Amino acid sequence: MPGFEIINHKEKKAVNKIFENGGVLFAHGFEKSRKNFHVREFEKTFGKKLKSKYNLAVSSGTAAIKIALKALGVKSGDEVITQAFNFIATIEAILDVGAIPRIVNIDKSLNMNPEEIKSVINKKTKVILPVHMLGVSAEIKEIIKISKKYKIKVLEDNCEAIGGKYSGKYLGTLADIGVFSFDFGKTITTGEGGMIVTKNKKLDKYSREYHDHGHENNPKFPRGKDTKTIYGFNYRMTEMQAAVGKVQLSKLKYILNCNKSRFLSLKKNIAGIFEIRKEPNKSISSYDTFIFFEEDNKIRSKIINLLKKEGYGTKNLPDAIEWHCSAFWDHALSSKEIKKSIKTKEILKNAIAVPIWLKRTPKEYENLGKKIKKFK
Ligand SMILES: *Cc1c(COP(=O)(O)O)cnc(C)c1O
Repeated sequence: MPGFEIINHKEKKAVNKIFENGGVLFAHGFEKSRKNFHVREFEKTFGKKLKSKYNLAVSSGTAAIKIALKALGVKSGDEVITQAFNFIATIEAILDVGAIPRIVNIDKSLNMNPEEIKSVINKKTKVILPVHMLGVSAEIKEIIKISKKYKIKVLEDNCEAIGGKYSGKYLGTLADIGVFSFDFGKTITTGEGGMIVTKNKKLDKYSREYHDHGHENNPKFPRGKDTKTIYGFNYRMTEMQAAVGKVQLSKLKYILNCNKSRFLSLKKNIAGIFEIRKEPNKSISSYDTFIFFEEDNKIRSKIINLLKKEGYGTKNLPDAIEWHCSAFWDHALSSKEIKKSIKTKEILKNAIAVPIWLKRTPKEYENLGKKIKKFK
């Protein structure tokens, strides 16, 4: 959240303009009937903003993870390490390339616990897939260090912390390859959509071809005669999504500033009274969600009821925990991985996640903090 909250005439105008300028909704060709290549422009501006070299727009964040795993060479029987607090999409992408998901737990930062990674690595391990959950950076440098020691790759899932940073670099751009989502709940939205970023030309080339039926988009040939060396699939983004994406991207800085002021206004009254989610040193959050812990069931229920009554709701914790904790995914994971995930479920049990809404003012968040404080 909350890109969808501030969709207005600007996105509408951008989409209308496509129809005024020829109505080409496809990312390739039709040069004579169009004025823009929105998907290509969205990729370019995204790369400029996040200082990432190669950028590929795709149809969703889930597709982005799958394509990135394929580009990294993950095959049937390989293992991919990911975390127990997560979104089901990472597991689905791992399974869809025929690989085996291996779970590590989170710590109180609610991100991957680097200390648990080594015990899961074996000869079959190909990739570590950490997720920057709900706005906060993982210990990504530490994870990359471990991966180098064992000569495995890192795929950063940054669907939930766009604009966040670690050591001055944008999250999603630090590892071998990174992915973003622009679904309707994300910080910026194109309805559905995703992006794959990398510094590695080969990874970009594979991803680009795979997401477009193997097309190399060889400038020497028309599309119908285009060259190909691999088969692919269709995970393309449309021009309408990209036109909206460009406008949303221009609002990112504003969204991040708004998130921060609301987050800090809430924190003001809660800090020192409740335990607040930890953030790694050297990291900057995207302030997407404010998370704190309360072990007492009665106090926790009172706070959650207040959040619901006042119209804030809770984000993922606790209301959608079944979609975000691998202890619940017995339809997709082995019983060994389910059992392993229980430690994470225990940490998440006491967590309360307050969504940061743009339509609520910092003052409202400050008052909310005052009310929450009274329960303690
Ligand atoms: C949203 C999300 C995805 C999937 O993105 P879609 O665009 O909805 O397919 C993947 N990983 C995480 C952590 C997410 O939050």
